[in-house]
Order: sequence, then C-alpha cells, then structure tokens
Amino acid sequence: MSTPAPTLEVRDLTVRFAGLTALDGIGFTVRPSTVHAVIGPNGAGKSTCFNVLSGVYRATSGSVRFGDEELTGLPAHRIADLGVARTFQNLALPPGATVEDSLMLGRHRLTRTGFVAAGLGLPSAVREEARHRERVREIAAFVGLEDQLARPAGTLPYGQQKLAELARALCMEPKLLLLDEPVAGMTAGERRATAAVVAGVRDSLGISIVLVEHDMGVVMRLADSVTVLDFGRLIADGTPESVQSDPAVVRAYLGE
Ligand code: ADP
Ligand code: MG
Repeated sequence: MSTPAPTLEVRDLTVRFAGLTALDGIGFTVRPSTVHAVIGPNGAGKSTCFNVLSGVYRATSGSVRFGDEELTGLPAHRIADLGVARTFQNLALPPGATVEDSLMLGRHRLTRTGFVAAGLGLPSAVREEARHRERVREIAAFVGLEDQLARPAGTLPYGQQKLAELARALCMEPKLLLLDEPVAGMTAGERRATAAVVAGVRDSLGISIVLVEHDMGVVMRLADSVTVLDFGRLIADGTPESVQSDPAVVRAYLGE
C-alpha cells in the first residue's frame, strides 16, 4: 500500500425500486484500514448497499464520500479507478480460465500498454506484463493459492474459488474492498482460513473492508464496527459486542 485508505462516509442513503424502499436513509463511516460489517436478515438491503457503493445501482438520494470524492452518480469503472473493488455473493470467475489468467483480469485496469501489445512482443509491454504476473503470484501467495495458478479456476474446491475471487479483487490494488458473503458455502476450515486472509488484508495491506456476512462468528471475530439493517432501515450500529446484545437486533433476527 502506497497511500492510506481514505475514509468512506455513507450519509442518508436511500434507494427505491418501483414502490419498494430497499435502503431508507442509512449512514455509516468506515475508518481507514478497518473492517466494517453490514449485517441483517435476508432482504435487509445489504447487497443493494454494495451495488450503490460500487456503482451498479444509482442512489435515489444521499451521499457516499470516499476521501474527497463523491461516489454517487459515478459509473462503476470510475469508482473502481478510485480504488474500490468488490466480490460478488455468487461466484463470478470465468470457469475455464486458469487461476493466473483470472487474476491477470484484475490487473487490466492498471496496465498502460495493454496485454495485446505484450502479445505482439513490444519490449516495454512484455516487461510490464511480467511485472503484473509477478504481482499476481505475490497476491496468490498472500491468499494461499500459489500452487493453484496453473489450474482452471472452475476445477478448484469451492472455498478456493471464493479465495481466488478475493485475490482477483486484490489484484486491482484497491484501497477499499467490498466483500459480499465471503465465507458463504464454505467448510469450517475454509471459513477460518478466509477470515485469516481478510484480517491480513486489513492488517498487512492496510486496505479498508466493508463486509456483508451471515456467519456471526466471522463478523464478531473480524469486524471493528457493525451496521445492522432490517427492511432497509438502520436499526443499530456500534461495536460487534454492543450490536450483538441490542434488543432491536435480537428482535430482527428472531422475527425472521
Ligand atoms: P440483502 O442483500 O440484504 O438480502 P437486497 O439488497 O438484495 O437484500 O434486497 C433488498 C430489497 O430490495 C429486497 O426486497 C429486494 O427484493 C429488493 N431489490 C434488490 N434489488 C432489486 C432490483 N434490482 N429491483 C427491484 N427490487 C430489488
Ligand atoms: Mg444479499
């Protein structure tokens, strides 16, 4: 990490779909190099929140500031250029490509000469591509996939495919990483390993993380701060310990 992550400030964010308010004036702050969890029952608005932060959906009103930049209204590629990367709730890697090539896709935004020029053998482009491959290998090692680079991504066990998605997002050298249910569908061992990688992304790489996750053990272990949503409204926020014992949160989960 060269520069520290800017603070993310979400204020009065509202998203309406024909007749349905998916987010109703929510707000939270993600401090640099911290993990902020957004939790809540199904349909609470968590994925909608990610889709607005990453520019997939447009906010109806409200603001999302990332350092000096206002993100609402920017197209997804501009938000990515500002250092915001995301993973999706469901797997999105091209299954036939090798892990290495899948991770190289994450480098495209950062190339100046382009990989086509490298394919044509232009020396500066070949050198640049080699640097990107080196960085891809470092990131693969960071998540523990250094021995899987030559395998087609779709042949990895599910937990490793999810880690490869995380690695691909890291290949964009983000300042802020949006993780949508990173341990969903994983075995207990895979969950522990992934939680350790996410902690390392924060502590060693200094990247800020917004985490949507149903696994409360992972949230309690990783999160520095938590926002709880229910039917699009913010019903609690604070430390993991304080929200866990909040009566409104207990009611929201028991009432599911
Ligand atoms: P969560 O991720 O917390 O389960 P979502 O953000 O996916 O919740 O959904 C919140 C609400 O918004 C749900 O009622 C969902 O049906 C609705 N919703 C999400 N995306 C759309 C969309 N593109 N069009 C219409 N309604 C949507
Ligand atoms: Mg969701």
